[in-house]
Amino acid sequence: MSAPLYHLRNQFPALNQPDLVYLDNAATTQKPERVLSAMNRFYREQNANVHRGAHRLSDLATRTFEGARDKVQSFINAPAREEVIFTRGTTESMNLLAQSLGSHLLQPGDEILIDTWAHHACIVPWQQMAMRTGAKLIPIPLTGDGDLDLDAYQALLGPKTRVVSLTQVSNALGKVAPLEVMLPEARAAGAITIVDGAQAVAHLEIDVQTLGCDFYAFSGHKCYGPTGIGVLWGRRELLEQMPPYQYGGEMIQQVSFEGSQFNRLPYKFEAGTPAIAEAIGLGEALAFIDELDRKALQAHETALMERVKAGMAALPGVEAIAGRGHNLGALSFRVEGEHHQDIGILLDQAGVAVRCGHHCCQPLMQALGLKGSCRVSFAAYNSLEEVDAFLSALKEITEFLDD
Ligand code: PMP
Repeated sequence: MSAPLYHLRNQFPALNQPDLVYLDNAATTQKPERVLSAMNRFYREQNANVHRGAHRLSDLATRTFEGARDKVQSFINAPAREEVIFTRGTTESMNLLAQSLGSHLLQPGDEILIDTWAHHACIVPWQQMAMRTGAKLIPIPLTGDGDLDLDAYQALLGPKTRVVSLTQVSNALGKVAPLEVMLPEARAAGAITIVDGAQAVAHLEIDVQTLGCDFYAFSGHKCYGPTGIGVLWGRRELLEQMPPYQYGGEMIQQVSFEGSQFNRLPYKFEAGTPAIAEAIGLGEALAFIDELDRKALQAHETALMERVKAGMAALPGVEAIAGRGHNLGALSFRVEGEHHQDIGILLDQAGVAVRCGHHCCQPLMQALGLKGSCRVSFAAYNSLEEVDAFLSALKEITEFLDD
């Protein structure tokens, strides 16, 4: 491992076990001790419900929980803390948007553009809302290299485009979308823009104001935080106009049997007791990322990716998928004549954890003419030695299967 990140590994208790080369970080990352401790501390010393208690412990829990919201705000450079909504993850963020924004906005014949890299979490909620409203869900096609076809995208944008939903980093391919080009074009067409940042947050610095999108979503568990917590950031003026997504306690100001008044932002979108410990864990995970040497992290991740690509290129029958150009954090591959699941099982037997399947991107797999793939994906704690261990296991497997 390159020197500046060498110390990281010891901070992750789950990595401290024999025969584990964990290269499935795009599915979920391991958690550093400080995240585990923060959550433990909450339950051991601060546990109370938030926002409505008249007692000291509730006040402490509220301050710690709301402190996590402040952390998210500064991490993504959101203009206001009220614009940061806690959800269960990217999937819930997308469902909230499709249901609340979609029902408020969409008319028959309206168009929703979505990239072909999109995760099912982005596709299905909009597909269902399109079916209910008579809107159309239109995919942005790929070039032969698996990049987004920008000419086709420009041609698709038009007066009927209401929503453009873009994946910042593809979980299946590790490709990075040229958001600096695509978002201004969507805005110029008058569309509302949504960015799925699930695979970006652990790897890239995020500034929603510089990006210039209307909504940004991510999951805690993919950036060293716990499961069950995620974020939807949105522009205040849009969030104000949108109806609530779920109803119940916390999200109301006043209730009678005749009707209810809803709470102000962000609570209007946070019905029920929130995932308090998880939000606190997420805040700690973002603090962990903030303290990383970003330049060193980038150099390290580039070194890991270059090593794995060069190693795969040297193995007969192994092909990186959409591996030309830049891949960030994740790389899919296949082995000629072999099912991806078999390769995954054999790698697991060699102590290497990778992901195999359609990666919740069936339309992408169809576009690439694949049933599925194997995928390696990296986090800050992975080492070049682990890449070498993976490559030598893959070499042995392909030689064994070739016999
Ligand atoms: N989008 C992308 C790009 C993802 O990688 C994932 C998780 N694989 C999701 C959305 C959904 O995230 P979650 O399951 O945490 O809600």
